[in-house]
Amino acid sequence: LRDLNDQLHELAHTDALTGLANRRTFNSHLANAWKAAARLHQPVAVLMIDVDFFKKFNDHYGHVQGDACLRKIANAVSAGLRGEAEAIQTRQDMPPSFTRMVGLPRKPDFVARYGGEEFAVLLQGTDLGGAVEVGKRLRQAVEDMLMAHVGAPWGFVSISVGTAAIVPVDTITPSGLVESADEALYEAKRRGRNQVVARPSLQLVEPGRAQAN
Ligand code: GH3
Ligand code: MG
Ligand code: MG
Repeated sequence: LRDLNDQLHELAHTDALTGLANRRTFNSHLANAWKAAARLHQPVAVLMIDVDFFKKFNDHYGHVQGDACLRKIANAVSAGLRGEAEAIQTRQDMPPSFTRMVGLPRKPDFVARYGGEEFAVLLQGTDLGGAVEVGKRLRQAVEDMLMAHVGAPWGFVSISVGTAAIVPVDTITPSGLVESADEALYEAKRRGRNQVVARPSLQLVEPGRAQAN
């Protein structure tokens, strides 16, 4: 019965194609991170990632290849993020004085398949600058795989990334943060794709000074 329960839990929380968390799990993680960050006056950042020209990819290579491509991107994104082991390592490495200076070390990053060819990443204790760095690394990681895509102007599979960060304030909900990252993603698409865009209006993420507009 416990095995069956574990399997049901897995089915409800993960995405079958990629093995990543699903949107529902992402939203509940974000809600928890939001509360913790509000208490600690720490920033929370979200990255929304969308595969570029993916309809053309499916049209040209077929749905099976499309699925394989999504799995590779999921792996590349996961590998490019900080896992539990690294987060603990950093915590042990840092003397207390250093922690006081630069703030709390980051918690492990969290990635989910948010929908079709879209992924979402949650970064705790990370401001907009840090989130942009992560976004650039992920974009590069996907580019480095050099997966052929005749429908893309540059000939390989790429992702666009939109990001936003904030120290939680009462006037904004977690979904507001996701919407901001989504707007930045839209802007990355508009500017030509295969790039990272940050939502500047949420840039003020110093404790107690976050602004929403
Ligand atoms: P853009 O660069 O603006 O993002 O263009 P796009 O073609 O990627 O975006 P659009 O929303 O037009 O198409 C998304 C495509 O992603 C269409 C859909 O068939 C494909 N897709 C969504 N989920 C899956 C999936 O699970 N497997 C496969 N193979 N394709 C998927
Ligand atoms: Mg899309
Ligand atoms: Mg797309």
